[in-house]
Amino acid sequence: MEVEDLFGHRISYLRVSVTDRCNERCRYCMPEEEQAWFAKEDTLSYDEMLRIVRVGASLGIKKIRVTGGEPLTRPDVDEFCANLAQIPGIEDIGISTNGTLLAKTDEGITMAERLVKAGVRTANISLDSLDREVYQRTTGRDLLPRVIEGVDAAIAAGFQAIKLNCVLMKGQTEREMPALIQFARDKNALLRFIELMPVSTQEVLSDDTFLPIATARKLVEQTTGPLTPLPEFRTNGPAAYHLIPDTGQKIGFIGAMTNLHFCESCDKLRLTCDGKLRPCLGSFLEFDLRSVLRGGCDDAELAAFFQNVVARKPKEHDFRHNYQPNRRMIAIGG
Ligand code: SAM
Ligand code: SF4
Repeated sequence: MEVEDLFGHRISYLRVSVTDRCNERCRYCMPEEEQAWFAKEDTLSYDEMLRIVRVGASLGIKKIRVTGGEPLTRPDVDEFCANLAQIPGIEDIGISTNGTLLAKTDEGITMAERLVKAGVRTANISLDSLDREVYQRTTGRDLLPRVIEGVDAAIAAGFQAIKLNCVLMKGQTEREMPALIQFARDKNALLRFIELMPVSTQEVLSDDTFLPIATARKLVEQTTGPLTPLPEFRTNGPAAYHLIPDTGQKIGFIGAMTNLHFCESCDKLRLTCDGKLRPCLGSFLEFDLRSVLRGGCDDAELAAFFQNVVARKPKEHDFRHNYQPNRRMIAIGG
């Protein structure tokens, strides 16, 4: 069975946030004030998440991305991924991580190896800068060397694809581009530049901080020469890829704010770690699946809930309409 929203999007992708906790403090992801974390009892157990995914899979969910917060800060996330991989209908599992814990070793095995063994196919690793000071300023932590070890651990572990995600910040990313492009090439990873979105606080996004993907592309071309668009090349999301003809390297641009076609191919739902099902990252809509789940519903009721959320999926996000976020990105799951 497959579910479609009112605009013909076939929903096949669920992002599952396993925690709102993180070992970093990225400026654009968390507001500066003291964090109020979800209580343990308000966070879904892995079994609850697996049940939701099972029901989702019966409705056509095929791809899962495990995210957070920082998913690798939640114990036993590798075991959770292995259980996800056992669910009939789930064909593709990826993880989004800041990379700081990928090289962490337990009984001689790295976390990256555990994830690959569990059936995780792709690793999306956030990397805004290769300059230790800039990295620390952006993420609030001096962990760049650990991230680089993490990227190497991911390569050694044999993920089928590794993507490096850099959030575009005016006045900063411009200087980082040449090194990031070279690093991605050396590591055979797919580099993507992501427009800043007003997902945590409105203030993170201003004329002083926002760098649109069109400008980013021109800046990349200053390093690489003219890029060739690759409209046919797609990964799981809305990135538009371009080729550097001289080297064959591909670079992705993700422009939620300025790409007016951004939502056209959206096939995603998001499950927050406190059990809200969200039909869109850039919308206030969220539906309390946890209460239904803990209220003793059967799978048919869960499926009906799921279908109802899909039916409420908006045509496009609200980011361009003076959007006032109601949830921090870290508590949604990127
Ligand atoms: N901790 C993991 C990580 O950093 O990759 C996973 C969760 S994080 C919320 C997922 C992605 O969201 C990261 O690539 C991060 O850069 C991105 N992100 C967070 N806040 C953002 C914002 N305001 N605008 C654009 N991307 C953002
Ligand atoms: Fe943590 Fe990822 Fe948010 Fe940075 S972007 S604070 S690493 S959840």
